[in-house]
Amino acid sequence: MKFFTFGMETMRITQNYNGKASHYNHSHGNPADYPIDVAGAGSGQSAYFATVDMKVVAKRGEGNSATNTIWLETTEKVKTPAFEDIAWLTLTHWNDDSITSKYKVGDVIKSGEIICYEGTDGAYANHLHLTCGRGHCDNWLKNDKGSWVMSGQSLQPEKVMYIDKEFTKVVDTCGLTFQDKPKDAPKDSFLPERGWLQRGDRGENVEKLCQFMYDTFPAYERTLKRDKAKLLGDYYGENIEAWIKEFQKRTNLEQDGCVGPLTLAKLKEYGFKE
Ligand SMILES: [Zn+2]
Repeated sequence: MKFFTFGMETMRITQNYNGKASHYNHSHGNPADYPIDVAGAGSGQSAYFATVDMKVVAKRGEGNSATNTIWLETTEKVKTPAFEDIAWLTLTHWNDDSITSKYKVGDVIKSGEIICYEGTDGAYANHLHLTCGRGHCDNWLKNDKGSWVMSGQSLQPEKVMYIDKEFTKVVDTCGLTFQDKPKDAPKDSFLPERGWLQRGDRGENVEKLCQFMYDTFPAYERTLKRDKAKLLGDYYGENIEAWIKEFQKRTNLEQDGCVGPLTLAKLKEYGFKE
């Protein structure tokens, strides 16, 4: 499960959710939401990046009087300081005809791609108004204090997002305390959850493995009289299994034809890179 982290390279919060400028009635009304205003590097328009894959669930305001807002949800459950579930995020004030214009409801914005830039649609100075929470959110409604708040379960951003210090430079949290993304965050493992790759598996990692075996141990082909063309591909079939067995035999590993941690470590000694 991936950690859900804040998406700007500079965190400079100019108003927290209790801010008297415009947020107090958001967080003290019913229903409540907990917006923060974020401005990035200081001048100009900083980008907000997707830090995990996120699906666009709604977009409103372009070309009309409503303030431009995009609603997004993680495509998978994520780990946050308060829960493990789908997380939602809204970003407001980006401009018409900005990068966000190209997105449609249903699009998936991949991790590392820009969702939007700070803007001034419905605002005096470049910034983004951000809310987030757990589960599903695709709309706004007026609360009993007259503020437009997000539907769904809104939570304080420090409960929903970690800060990845390798990505985000924190300049001002406006008094909020965020948790750092844990250091022992599990990296995406090359091996699937069961702990090894085996006959019948398919995917990008299998393809990488086949390509490596093909490039590094062409001699096995003569030994095994296999058709090279049949080794390449993204399917863990009998050819790659036979090549792995041959590799295991030559390196004194158990010849099970699977790639688990021991075989993977041995392959790395021969130059394999995940
Ligand atoms: Zn705001």
